[in-house]
Amino acid sequence: MSKAIYPGSFDPVTYGHIDIIRRAAKIFDELTVSVLNNKVKTPLFSVDERVKMLQEVCKDIPNVKIDSFSGLLADYASECGTDVIIRGLRAITDFEYELQMAQTNHKIAEHVDTVFLTTSLEYAYLSSTTVKEVASFGKDVTQFVPPCVAEKIYEKYR
Ligand code: ADP
Repeated sequence: MSKAIYPGSFDPVTYGHIDIIRRAAKIFDELTVSVLNNKVKTPLFSVDERVKMLQEVCKDIPNVKIDSFSGLLADYASECGTDVIIRGLRAITDFEYELQMAQTNHKIAEHVDTVFLTTSLEYAYLSSTTVKEVASFGKDVTQFVPPCVAEKIYEKYR
């Protein structure tokens, strides 16, 4: 059975992430979308809130599981018994950081490889950061995130 992990902050999940999730779930038998508990970043949503939103928006995709992790991604991949990490590439600006991450993970755990899916053009501009910024000014974000996620963002800025 082919397995992959799609790790990220997902603070919060956007249509860009969902597009990558759907496409990766078609390629692999089992996909684990995993929220990184990153102590360096100050997120808008707790890990628990991010996991719940992902569960809600992925509930119709049967081979997708939602999880969370902290620590090194390469260690987490080994724990999951998975050799494949999925990452999305939006633009050339993502590339340098992603290349460095992929190579570092491969150095730490030689069996781990990163597979990049390029973003669908309609989501190339989309990031969780810009969605939060737009919402913080009281604007509608339903073109960027599913309605249940938009509600949660509005609650934070109320
Ligand atoms: P991180 O903080 O780990 O970069 P993100 O939640 O911002 O976490 O992104 C997780 C992954 O999803 C990354 O590989 C990122 O490049 C990708 N991603 C984010 N937004 C989009 C998008 N609009 N289209 C495709 N991939 C995306």
